[in-house]
Amino acid sequence: MKFKIIKSHSKNLARVGQIETSHGTIETPAFIVGGTKATVKALTIDQIKNLNSQAILANTYHLMLQPGAEIIQQANGLASFMGYDGPTFTDSGGFQIFSLGLAYKQNLKDMTNSQNSNHKLKFSKGLINVSDDGVEFKSHLDGTKYFMSPEKSMKIQHQIGADIHMAFDQLTTPLADQSTIEEACRRTHEWAARSLAQHQLLNHQHKKNQQPEQSLYGIVQGSRIKNLRIESAKIINSLGFDGFAIGGIFEPTEINQVLGWIMPKLTLDKPKHLLGMGAQPLDLFLGIENGIDTFDCVAPTRQARNGALYTSNGRINITNQQFKTNYDPIDKNCRCYTCLNHTQSYLNHLFKANELLAYTLSSIHNEYFVVNLVNQIRQSILNENYQDFKESFLNNYYYKQLDSIKNFI
Ligand SMILES: [Zn+2]
Repeated sequence: MKFKIIKSHSKNLARVGQIETSHGTIETPAFIVGGTKATVKALTIDQIKNLNSQAILANTYHLMLQPGAEIIQQANGLASFMGYDGPTFTDSGGFQIFSLGLAYKQNLKDMTNSQNSNHKLKFSKGLINVSDDGVEFKSHLDGTKYFMSPEKSMKIQHQIGADIHMAFDQLTTPLADQSTIEEACRRTHEWAARSLAQHQLLNHQHKKNQQPEQSLYGIVQGSRIKNLRIESAKIINSLGFDGFAIGGIFEPTEINQVLGWIMPKLTLDKPKHLLGMGAQPLDLFLGIENGIDTFDCVAPTRQARNGALYTSNGRINITNQQFKTNYDPIDKNCRCYTCLNHTQSYLNHLFKANELLAYTLSSIHNEYFVVNLVNQIRQSILNENYQDFKESFLNNYYYKQLDSIKNFI
């Protein structure tokens, strides 16, 4: 993988660049489409390409359980298995494994609702067992026990064969206490070094066998704690990764602060990926102006399947009664297949009738919206009108809640 910066913004860290992989070049900033189980839900590869998307990110945890990394390896890797000829990413599996063990969402909800909460999350007994060696966990599919370590994650990710993959890290939740976060950081850094050593060994074998080499990103953690974030960035930066991913940012309102601590410690001319953020346009603007090059997030398609659709004037729920007789497209400014060919009324009908096409048409629109927003941001950096574009876009999108975001415009 090679990364080069083409143009940098004069007043913030936004930059336009290119990530060259053996499956093609990604023009950055770019939104990487979420293809968790080697599929972007409800979309064919042609439909994915027609969104102007440039790369797909799949999930190691899901693919190791089903169909199994060997099956993908025998198909010549993830892209070939999917029938896709573009660049691919995998995440390390850490997020899903730790989410499983923490029963993440439910615990978070319970604790948010509880006034007596001591803000400590315990691992759910029997689901995962974490030690410095790695994590023992049970499959959510059939309860089979697995062991995942940095070495194992690297082996599986090399079998899956994405162009860019991630070091194995330990997730903490937004409500974890300082000592839990400190321990997770220590482990994340030890695991980063072990991931990198194993990755280099496996890449050496690829080279010997004249197969394309893969690239590895180190993950910066540290939650909301300034000194831990800075320490994490320094350590991960010192290890010699090809690029960096930033994990554990939970809200758009935290992006400026956390990236403000991290970015000065990371080598400027290496690519940076913001893990799991991009559900909201504000995430993308704030990430990019803090130096983020790529994003991934499954929210656009997940929301689409629930009928929550992006428009230039904010998000709508297409299943609402008011759209039943509206014969306009979802967004008059959108050039996606769905908006060029179908009306709000038709989408409303498909959802009400539980028709499968509802998922496809709504996913096409939401993915197109997010992918093209990032593409437009890239163009605005090149055209030197980023700030004007940002103000105009955010003022329209958030016009109902401008007070809550005005500090970020
Ligand atoms: Zn559209």
